Amino acid sequence: MRLATSRHGVVVAGLAGLPTYTRANSLSQFYFVNGRSVRDKVLVGAIRAAYADYTFRDRFPVVALYIAIDPAEVDVNVHPAKAELRFRDAGAVRSAVIRAIGEALTAAGFKASTSVADDILGAFTAPQYATAPAGAPPQRRDFTRPAMPFASYDRVSGYGSANPFSPQYGAQQQGIEGLNEPSARVESEAAPALMEFPLGTARAQMFDNFIIAQNSEGLLLVDQHAAHERSVYERFKAQLASGPVPSRAQLIPLVIELPEEDCARLEDAAPDLERFGLYLERFGPRAIAVRETPALLGNSDIEGSVRDVADGLAEWDTSSAVADRMDEIIARMACHGSVRSGRRLRVDEMNALLRDMEATPHSGQCIHGRPTYVELKQKDIERLFGRSR
Ligand SMILES: [Zn+2]
Repeated sequence: MRLATSRHGVVVAGLAGLPTYTRANSLSQFYFVNGRSVRDKVLVGAIRAAYADYTFRDRFPVVALYIAIDPAEVDVNVHPAKAELRFRDAGAVRSAVIRAIGEALTAAGFKASTSVADDILGAFTAPQYATAPAGAPPQRRDFTRPAMPFASYDRVSGYGSANPFSPQYGAQQQGIEGLNEPSARVESEAAPALMEFPLGTARAQMFDNFIIAQNSEGLLLVDQHAAHERSVYERFKAQLASGPVPSRAQLIPLVIELPEEDCARLEDAAPDLERFGLYLERFGPRAIAVRETPALLGNSDIEGSVRDVADGLAEWDTSSAVADRMDEIIARMACHGSVRSGRRLRVDEMNALLRDMEATPHSGQCIHGRPTYVELKQKDIERLFGRSR
């Protein structure tokens, strides 16, 4: 991602890697201030903060950051080798860097690093018989076709129902959240109009978690849980930013049994959790009643969400845990509020998820920094078979 912003007299330029392209140490981070190579805590911290939502804490994004700033605003004499410096207004530099990365991440949209596809290509190995020594008898393979039950395929067009421009699209998204019924209808014909979308048209689902899609340039493999989780997380975050998250009353309060300490911690945090759309009440010594839940989570695994938030409160163990860990709380709830791996999706549901990803910022990586999809272009596939020219 190319960086180019200027803010309060701080110019930020250079290159920054996508969040799916990270290293285990900071050796691939380069910082220059007014042309001088430096190591500086403010810059390292700003990069860490800018990527916090998109990468694991122990991973380092790859960056080459060039800062241009009025020389009067930096003190380069804090270290004899001049490899360290001090900014007069560290806050301004920090916010300029975070802003620059944030803009680039938003512009990158749902892109995942192409190195992901390279990794996959590297993982493929040629079949053994291709390298059999000359003279060895060719391995006989039984290519008898299995009886293909074409006639019994339930064809679903995938058209219209998932069109993001249709007025029903909002309801469609609700549809993904409220998915309850498993379905075995997974094969579909390519829908030509959907092929033009960046993430294309869903063709099949494999291992109950991976959507195989096709666009006009190639093949895509999408991790349905990771992709949906990012989308729920981003919507959750947007709702939280504009006030309390809209909630929905449970018809019958859900009662969850938990150890007494967990109940106590949830009870203490209950007033703070209401802004997340989660309304809890103590229900005896070892139970919590859930009265209202975030509307955007639909009929998802509320019990899992509440248990996970309780675990978080125990781990963080500070009186201001809820205020300090807002992003982590919504991440935990989004995880349980998303299509789980293991759930079969219908073709229209898969297409709705693909359209949702295209409209979701940062959807190329899940909230833990893993890719949500990989793309193999037709030329990559041809390369696998030695067909590239
Ligand atoms: Zn998850």
